[in-house]
Amino acid sequence: LFISFEGIDGSGKSTQARLLAERLRAKGREVVLTREPGGSPGAEEIRALVLQGDPDRWSAETELLLFTAARRDHLERTIAPALARGATVICDRFADSTRMYQGLSRGDLRAVVDQLHELMIGVEPDLTLLIDMEPRAALTRAKARATAEERFEDFGLDLQVRMREGFLSLAREFPDRFRVIDGDTSPEAVAQEVDAALQAPA
Ligand code: C5P
Repeated sequence: LFISFEGIDGSGKSTQARLLAERLRAKGREVVLTREPGGSPGAEEIRALVLQGDPDRWSAETELLLFTAARRDHLERTIAPALARGATVICDRFADSTRMYQGLSRGDLRAVVDQLHELMIGVEPDLTLLIDMEPRAALTRAKARATAEERFEDFGLDLQVRMREGFLSLAREFPDRFRVIDGDTSPEAVAQEVDAALQAPA
């Protein structure tokens, strides 16, 4: 089973991915908890290339190629082997983040994102949990824990609002695998909604 968590920065998806991994492990399941950009040694190196240093070093197109290369390595080295041995893979961001960030926020590259995905990745999660959250609160949270080393996409509120709308419209585009979770409640309540989404048939 391949599960991804998506949402705007500060939506709490990393916390929920970790909590779900802990719950499933407690039931005896083998869980591989991973993240993007990154998730394999090579992909983590690419993450550092893109997110550290001068934010204008790469064009939008080059950044898309780098993130696609990172995803390919992550898939080959981490995700595919784990799925092949029957583990549950929980991924903090996957291709939907690229559809949003490279496809929407930095120019209109969505068609190219989809073509590259089909050519080089070709895999979608079985289930995508979109943690939907009020953009202002998410932005405050994301700013509070932004680190000095990694670039933080301070898109400002306008873009945070656009990205939220973008994720919700992706959920409508792929209704079979997306479940929208209300992220504006407590971590415990969100975790309960996550469990309910896992139980509900797709
Ligand atoms: O999810 P995480 O905090 O690790 O993401 C790090 C940064 O990379 C965030 O600012 C996010 O907006 C950005 N990002 C991106 N393109 C992606 C995935 C993440 O620009 N495909």
